[in-house]
Amino acid sequence: MIQRDATMYVILLGPPGAGKGTQAVQTAAATGLLHLSTGDMFREHLRNGTDLGNLAKTYMDRGELVPDDVTIRMLLERIGRTDAQAGCLFDGFPRTVEQARALDEALSAQNDEIAVTVLIDVSNEEITRRLGGRVSCAACGSVFHNIFNPPDESSPCCDTVNMIQRDDDKPEAIANRLQVYADQTEPLVAYYRDAGKLSTVNGEQPPAAVGAELLAALEAVSG
Ligand code: ADP
Ligand code: ADP
Repeated sequence: MIQRDATMYVILLGPPGAGKGTQAVQTAAATGLLHLSTGDMFREHLRNGTDLGNLAKTYMDRGELVPDDVTIRMLLERIGRTDAQAGCLFDGFPRTVEQARALDEALSAQNDEIAVTVLIDVSNEEITRRLGGRVSCAACGSVFHNIFNPPDESSPCCDTVNMIQRDDDKPEAIANRLQVYADQTEPLVAYYRDAGKLSTVNGEQPPAAVGAELLAALEAVSG
């Protein structure tokens, strides 16, 4: 467990399918940081049939980003809650420079700042393989991969029968999501590098090895 004597805000950056969610679950367990995924938040709104969920779906289905104003409002409301005061691990946010600026301003208003942004570096070929095989458990939401991390047939919950594929992991949406990443999210690499807050890990290793590099990056900045 990382020793933390202060609040710590960490961003996981990387293209769709890089392994941000997989790593966030493990890292949150190892550090006690609250895992916040804006994709999961939108999908939960959708399951609950809220106006925000229905609006987000129109963008998500096309592989486009939900507009900054609604995304920023949702995220800032979430980090204002009590359980986020000890720090957060952001997964899938920010995805635009405007979102990054809004997060910086909100943290600075509470005398805080991003400790580090960890880029999970994975090639486009590997991304396509990962997204094409990604499935998740309809019952508990755990994420698997048909080949790289197969469902657990001995589990009554996460067996193959319970697996579903996200609509936006179908081939038509994947290509657009990679383009959207290159156009709108990749500029954040320079944004955080210029701020002296970028650390890069090699995402093309088994999940445990990626996780070890990630923890080392957090340890390097934890006070
Ligand atoms: P992945 O992990 O595959 O990138 P996410 O679950 O993070 O997918 O996001 C799924 C979709 O939700 C995105 O393609 C986008 O439509 C929407 N979304 C998630 N986070 C954001 C964000 N920060 N800004 C705008 N749209 C977002
Ligand atoms: P993201 O949140 O960045 O979109 P995920 O964590 O959902 O990425 O991972 C995308 C897919 O790749 C999932 O099917 C997951 O099981 C698989 N995956 C994640 N990390 C690795 C890895 N290091 N090696 C192989 N497959 C991986």
